[in-house]
Amino acid sequence: MTLLEHTKNAPQAWSGNLPVTSRYTYGLAGERFFRAMKDEGKIMGSYCPKCDHTYVPATVFCERCLGELSEWVDVGLVGELHTFTVLFVDCDGNPLEEPELVGLITFGDGGIIHRLEADPDELEIGMPMEAVLKPKAKRKGSILDIEGFRAVSK
Ligand SMILES: [Zn+2]
Repeated sequence: MTLLEHTKNAPQAWSGNLPVTSRYTYGLAGERFFRAMKDEGKIMGSYCPKCDHTYVPATVFCERCLGELSEWVDVGLVGELHTFTVLFVDCDGNPLEEPELVGLITFGDGGIIHRLEADPDELEIGMPMEAVLKPKAKRKGSILDIEGFRAVSK
């Protein structure tokens, strides 16, 4: 029996629930990255002087030379719009009441994917976009401390 013949009659999916709980830790770099965002309202990157590469979000090791990164840099709150898309359905495929904009904002050699607070007709690739942070008292040390990115006023 070939694999195709075998899988043709095999069940493709099961319905049900799994009682799974988990805890995700940010790790060393993530802890520092999100603490700086929460406490200081900063987006931090880590810099590899050997590769002249700035990682955003910050990491502990350089992915290129595997060197340990100890040089942290405040990359500011203004990045550059690299790409964006309009979402019409949620992660489960259900239609959204209102379409949402999501984009990749680059900082250094990395970037952050997040919501955009903008009119899609006014967006241009390469335009400066600024992080809109929640008020300090409402930040929790997560990527959602950024409410979204908006175009920088000219
Ligand atoms: Zn490196």
